[in-house]
Amino acid sequence: MAEFSLDLNEDQLQIQKWVHDFAEDVIRPAAHEWDEREETPWPIIEEAAKVGLYSMEFGANAVGDPTGLTWPIVMEEMCWGDAGITLAIFGSTLAVSGIIANGTPEQIGEWVPQCFGTPEKIQLGAFCVSEPDAGSDVSSLRTRAVYDEAKDEWVLNGTKTWITNGGIADVHVVVASVDPELRGRGQASFVVPPGTPGLSMGQKFKKHGIRASHTAEVVLADVRIPGSCLLGGKAKLDERLARAREGGSSRGQAALKTFEATRPIVGAQAIGIARAAFEYSLDYAKERVQFGRPIIENQAIAFKLADMKTEIDAARLLVWRASWMGATGKPFEFGEGSMSKLKAGETAVRVTEEAIQILGGYGYVREYPVERWHRDAKIYTIFEGTSEIQRLVIARAISGLHIQ
Ligand SMILES: Cc1cc2nc3c(=O)[nH]c(=O)nc-3n(C[C@H](O)[C@H](O)[C@H](O)COP(=O)(O)OP(=O)(O)OC[C@H]3O[C@@H](n4cnc5c(N)ncnc54)[C@H](O)[C@@H]3O)c2cc1C
Repeated sequence: MAEFSLDLNEDQLQIQKWVHDFAEDVIRPAAHEWDEREETPWPIIEEAAKVGLYSMEFGANAVGDPTGLTWPIVMEEMCWGDAGITLAIFGSTLAVSGIIANGTPEQIGEWVPQCFGTPEKIQLGAFCVSEPDAGSDVSSLRTRAVYDEAKDEWVLNGTKTWITNGGIADVHVVVASVDPELRGRGQASFVVPPGTPGLSMGQKFKKHGIRASHTAEVVLADVRIPGSCLLGGKAKLDERLARAREGGSSRGQAALKTFEATRPIVGAQAIGIARAAFEYSLDYAKERVQFGRPIIENQAIAFKLADMKTEIDAARLLVWRASWMGATGKPFEFGEGSMSKLKAGETAVRVTEEAIQILGGYGYVREYPVERWHRDAKIYTIFEGTSEIQRLVIARAISGLHIQ
């Protein structure tokens, strides 16, 4: 089992530098433009695919690092460049995680490559869980999946909302209810193949931040998919539903484990934004002169920067610990994955707000990147489980009680 170490190995250092260079040379210079345009930055995704950053091989290699640290390092560097563009490039990995967590080896082999495509023909994935009436409470999904035994097809109906890459993705992974009475335990995941009739994009949302990342509704109207698109297969689903009807459960535990393992990655993205804002405001504070001295020579400003750096480093330690635990199979006894995402998300919001304060009026206008970082940071206390839901997971884990 890989030991936990803060000394990055040669491979990790090389990848960190390579991704940082891409973030500095390609992503950051494009960030303002795509934030203003609020469109998917296809040329940047193409560039990422051309250099091998947006590819199944790179993802598999980074995620497969036995120490667990490579993928959070990649995410931090990318989001240091720009979080909206990073999510446009790597939003597909949500669908990939859904396929890997639930699919058979054959399904993984068939669908994961299609979430990436090739540099010549880029493809995207979307992971569709949230609904207008089911956000934090994912057990109350209304989207229905009904089995048509005669044709060995599933028929999906419902509306998904807030979906990253929704309607523009090639592969949509949809979580739907097979048996509504069983609530969360009566759900299953399905792949909707490219071009399937009945799946369409609803409203595209105009957002506060991460505006280069496409977010939209996905409407499913009598979407027919082959039986083979049920992730995990029918026999396994029937077995699971029978167990749930008898009152048994193991799926909740499995899903919790998957979330705990993926949350630190989202935390790493938040740290990337926070670090960008910290570095920028540190430089600014050394240069900006008021009352005849650089503003950093006032404790009021220098202490802000000291707190910002401390919080960022603390958040990164939690992210790396949880990533290492996930990779080495250590049990998440106290919601360590949730802790990392909670701390990193809230740190990003606080740090970017302080960065605006340090820049004063210049922090508040669009000519400077700091207000964008503040808008981008806010999503990290909302998606992939709000801060309140992370606290719920941790509170339940530490108390052993079903805290409401
Ligand atoms: C930009 C963006 C991209 C997204 N991408 C995706 C995607 O790709 N796929 C996908 O499926 N979803 C996606 N989401 C959805 C996201 O995961 C949800 O927005 C999130 O889970 C919160 O759900 P909600 O918005 O319905 O808020 P609600 O669940 O309605 O929560 C509202 C408030 O109530 C609080 N609250 C709710 N329940 C409790 C409780 N029990 N205890 C204490 N407080 C509580 C919440 O913390 C929050 O503060 C995305 C959202 C956004 C904004």
